[in-house]
Amino acid sequence: MEISAHSRELARDLLNFIDASPSPWHAVQTTADRLLHAGFVALRESERWQLAAGGRYFVIRGGASIVAFVMGRDNLDTCGFRLVGAHTDSPGLRIKPKALQGGDSLLRLGVEVYGGPILASFADRDLSLAGRVAVRDGNGVDMRLVHFAQPLLRLPNLAIHMNREVNENGLKFNKQTELPLLLGFGGDGAPEDGRFHSLLATRLAVAPDAILSWELAICDTQPGSFWGMEQEFVADSQLDNLASCHAGLTALLGAESPATTNVCAFFDHEEVGSESAAGAGGSFIADVLRRIAGNAGLDDEGFRCALANSFFISTDMAHAYHPNFPAAYEPAHRVAVNGGPVIKTNANQRYSTGAASAARFIRLCERAGVPWQQYAHRSDLGCGSTIGPIIAAGLGVASVDVGSPMWAMHSIRESAGVVDHGCMIAALGAAFSD
Ligand SMILES: [Zn+2]
Repeated sequence: MEISAHSRELARDLLNFIDASPSPWHAVQTTADRLLHAGFVALRESERWQLAAGGRYFVIRGGASIVAFVMGRDNLDTCGFRLVGAHTDSPGLRIKPKALQGGDSLLRLGVEVYGGPILASFADRDLSLAGRVAVRDGNGVDMRLVHFAQPLLRLPNLAIHMNREVNENGLKFNKQTELPLLLGFGGDGAPEDGRFHSLLATRLAVAPDAILSWELAICDTQPGSFWGMEQEFVADSQLDNLASCHAGLTALLGAESPATTNVCAFFDHEEVGSESAAGAGGSFIADVLRRIAGNAGLDDEGFRCALANSFFISTDMAHAYHPNFPAAYEPAHRVAVNGGPVIKTNANQRYSTGAASAARFIRLCERAGVPWQQYAHRSDLGCGSTIGPIIAAGLGVASVDVGSPMWAMHSIRESAGVVDHGCMIAALGAAFSD
């Protein structure tokens, strides 16, 4: 397989992006940093916007959702928006508010399962913590990112001598009793939450009583890697769906002064159904688009025309064919790693793709000079879903669901193809100059 230096460079940049983004809040910060570096202006939802023709902006809601956009040269009502969406969150483990558990001379952290991770993949890994902490700041509250880069936590397996059937029955954890993570030695008295506050406070260089609350995710400490005989694959945490965020962002930054008004929208809470103020089911995207339209001089009638002329590409990862498990796949719709972007179709509208939107995406791939593939789930298996149908329903826009092929979706260590990532960026780049 021929892997161009450009593909390799884009995949390397993806791994750097993920490694700088151990939590969804960090992913938004990493995205914002890149946007600022490229000259985008940060907006606040709580202030009036004065958007200039050709201007480049972004706005964050809830810390882990972000919309970035470039005001196009063409009339917005007749050309509409070019939208690329993805999600910033990944399934995994989250720390409960009163997390510390004592007893048996060991300290453990109680966790809650977020979304649908493969829990067994968290065992025996060098885990740590990342997220955001609310810190007392004078009379107000400061939201601070926190990340422990060194291994801090662990979920040791039970030895096979006490779990003889593990290779026959699979590795199972009771979510309440068997998932708390080992944090260190502790006294046998009732655990003091203060010790966990102190851990966070030391890291943030504040007093322990300044810590008010937090949203913290378990993260992996192993950096992303290339693997395979020709290093044609990548492995990292959160490829679902930071690979799509990175692809959308890279395409947006690549279209420097576009004719169309280009928008990237990356949402939190996809893994738990998107129904939140910052999620794809909330008002965030509609609010931002309405404000862009107003600033572009459109009245409500013009805004409706703009939506009707818009195209939304929902990018989320796709299930690549795994040769060890042929029975898991629809035989006619196997998609290959490094075979190019995947168009996902489901008649029951778990994906938003229709004939017209699929055709439009195929034309974009043709223009970008990249191959494309088509995926449908087995008819006797429940199909996953993503933000595509939710956004399509909320905005009433033409929409397609696509993604790069990957293995081990929702494992803490997922893998995908080097070539696919560059292909997806090229296809989204074509959409942003459509
Ligand atoms: Zn996803």
